[in-house]
Amino acid sequence: MKIICIGRNYTEHAKELNNPVPEKPVFFLKPDSALVLNNRPFFYPSFSEDVHHELELVIRIHRLGRSIPEKFAHRYYSEIGLGVDFTARDLQGEMKKKGLPWEIAKGFDYSAPVSPLISLEEAGGGGDLDFHLELNGQTVQEGNSRDMIFSFDRIIAYVSQFMTLKTGDLIFTGTPPGVGPVKIGDHLECYLGDRKMMDFFVK
Ligand code: ZN
Repeated sequence: MKIICIGRNYTEHAKELNNPVPEKPVFFLKPDSALVLNNRPFFYPSFSEDVHHELELVIRIHRLGRSIPEKFAHRYYSEIGLGVDFTARDLQGEMKKKGLPWEIAKGFDYSAPVSPLISLEEAGGGGDLDFHLELNGQTVQEGNSRDMIFSFDRIIAYVSQFMTLKTGDLIFTGTPPGVGPVKIGDHLECYLGDRKMMDFFVK
């Protein structure tokens, strides 16, 4: 499986990092070795001093597809959960400056904790989903799927032009504002509406 991540999908987050609001989705990949499940800890990497949390809605592809028309994209996913796109912001800044790829800043081990997924139906549909992140008991990021620049269907249509989507692929759909650093010992709790989906520590 692969992990596809959308960058800059919330206007307010693009602004906080001084990035232009994109006209097309921007995406990058994380390897399957980045995935962390079952509330296991995030191990802080030795090569960064500025790892940021990015809380994101995550959908799971349940059917093979390529060049999927947007109007059929809803047939390719039915489950949703939350993920944290951990980002080594210091390394990402260096790579951006040099115009180089972001992999070392985004695709490192443990950089993709993902919650259990629930059916979209159970979540109340995909169009109006509140989610938030509590860091040591304080809400630091809050978002709602209606504020996404590119919808789930648009993302699937766009990405599948370039690469085949396979059953089990995960799509991180972008982060709302409020990204910030984590440190060893931090406690992260991720909520979809009132439902706690994920709860883990930084070690
Ligand atoms: Zn992200």
